[in-house]
Amino acid sequence: MKQPADVAEVVVVGGGPVGMGLAVELGQRGVRSIVVERYARPQPIPKGQNLTQRTMEHLHFWGAEDAVRAARTIPRGYGIGGLTAYGTLLGPYSYDWMQRELVRPFYFTDNERLPQYATEAALRRRVAELACVEALYGWSAEDIRQDNDGVDVVIAEREGNGRRRLRAKYAVGCDGSRSMVRARAGITQSLSDHDRLMVLLVFRSVGLHKLLERFPGKSFYSVLDPALEGYWKFFGRVDLGSTWFFHAPVPAGATRDNFDFRRLLCEAAGADFEVEFEHIGFWELRFAMADACRNGRIFIAGDAAHSHPPYGAYGVNTGLEDVRNLGWKLAAARAGWAGPGLLDSYDAERRPVFCSTAKEFIEKAIAADRQFLATFDPAKDRAAFERAWAARGSQAPSEIHAFEPNYEGSPIVWGAAGAACSAVGSHAFVARAGHHLAPRPLSCGRNVFAELGDGFTLLEFNGDDGLCRAFVMAAEQLRTPLKVVRDSQAAGEHYGAAYVLVRPDHFVAWAGNDSSANAEGILRKAIGEPAAGA
Ligand SMILES: Cc1cc2nc3c(=O)[nH]c(=O)nc-3n(C[C@H](O)[C@H](O)[C@H](O)COP(=O)(O)OP(=O)(O)OC[C@H]3O[C@@H](n4cnc5c(N)ncnc54)[C@H](O)[C@@H]3O)c2cc1C
Repeated sequence: MKQPADVAEVVVVGGGPVGMGLAVELGQRGVRSIVVERYARPQPIPKGQNLTQRTMEHLHFWGAEDAVRAARTIPRGYGIGGLTAYGTLLGPYSYDWMQRELVRPFYFTDNERLPQYATEAALRRRVAELACVEALYGWSAEDIRQDNDGVDVVIAEREGNGRRRLRAKYAVGCDGSRSMVRARAGITQSLSDHDRLMVLLVFRSVGLHKLLERFPGKSFYSVLDPALEGYWKFFGRVDLGSTWFFHAPVPAGATRDNFDFRRLLCEAAGADFEVEFEHIGFWELRFAMADACRNGRIFIAGDAAHSHPPYGAYGVNTGLEDVRNLGWKLAAARAGWAGPGLLDSYDAERRPVFCSTAKEFIEKAIAADRQFLATFDPAKDRAAFERAWAARGSQAPSEIHAFEPNYEGSPIVWGAAGAACSAVGSHAFVARAGHHLAPRPLSCGRNVFAELGDGFTLLEFNGDDGLCRAFVMAAEQLRTPLKVVRDSQAAGEHYGAAYVLVRPDHFVAWAGNDSSANAEGILRKAIGEPAAGA
């Protein structure tokens, strides 16, 4: 006989950053959820440090921004920017890289840098404040099955004999790149193997800190070594002064015992320094993209859906956007106002974004670095190398500007005809359907982000009441939460639209100037109902 189940609306498998982010998103929306995490405490590997402005917006709205900023390990006065060097870190050639401050005006919050375990700890504390979320730490999910009405998840205590069955309407696998949930849901992956063994070193070295004083304000550094054909030697500060992490390809067969890792570090830096290792680990360099993000009642998010080399800080940032996208849709399904297409729009919006992140940013960067290293060599033609190096340095900001994940081609936004969802875009203040809303101070002095509602928000900037009333009536009829925020025409000029319909995840669903637009048709599409003309 089946044991009685613990019942929830959503079970989240995996309480890494992505699972905990989803638990907060759902908990704040009143969705009764259980999160199952195999480890009692966050694992002390300092990965996932580089958090974008957009990620900090999530943490702000999840009530965890202050805690995350307080856990920062690099003093506020010191920078958290990056640098790319040629040959060795201390060699003569370098340029600024990943200058996120360039896109700061398009987001509501500053970016941040801290070890992933500290972010996870802050999210765990936030989850503890949410009455409708139960967190089961120290429990592993062993099996998951779905039927017409729900999902069963069998869990077992990691250090003990406890076993339980959880029953929910939906389950989300946030259980990392080796996702059990993905496998059991029968979701396949497309793999692109780079056939490289990578090492991750965590070490202490005051000497390296002293050597890098020549690069004030920098916290991470990639070294382009011609011998590595575009793969990086990567140093990152864990704190200011002593602790570091490093990753790079190593020869196949390298182990903790047969390889000189201190020498690898000193060669990458181009100087000798003392090293005390805290962690030596290995992984295979590969891209893995899920071929779907949903099978029935089971969804996947974060590394369970997309994993790739940690090049450019696209991992945890992308995973947290996944769950910001999925969370409000699951909450809408539970509250009864999701149209039949809303849950499917998660896959339609997010998968093209993470596939193009891998292809257009990470794979492209590796290929471009490889091409550059094969073509230019300062020992052979210094002038040509220096010209090409300077050009690379001046083009580096373009990656930051171009990374603008958007859902222009989504079935639930009123994007341009023929547009596609992609990670490639451009930052702009103009409100564009399918794009992140840019912040803006309103006449009341508060930022528009401080006024946005938990559900949809209609921004109205031309003083005409008619369309607002039509939206309010449509929202009542569709039982969809809608807040109206009104401001001056100046704000409308900033956004290039008199009306902007903003989704719960702060992407624009529709923007326009026509006060006779079909409010009901616009809203129906935005919640995944079959569209009517707008
Ligand atoms: C060296 C390094 C540096 C990185 N730097 C960055 C960076 O600067 N910026 C960035 O955006 N990304 C970075 N990343 C990538 C980032 O760390 C990952 O993308 C991120 O960890 C993904 O989060 P996740 O929650 O999806 O998966 P994970 O962090 O893998 O979490 C999955 C969780 O699920 C739990 N779990 C797994 N299976 C089960 C089960 N069956 N039952 C219960 N629990 C389970 C695990 O214990 C774990 O806590 C880096 C990665 C590395 C390796």
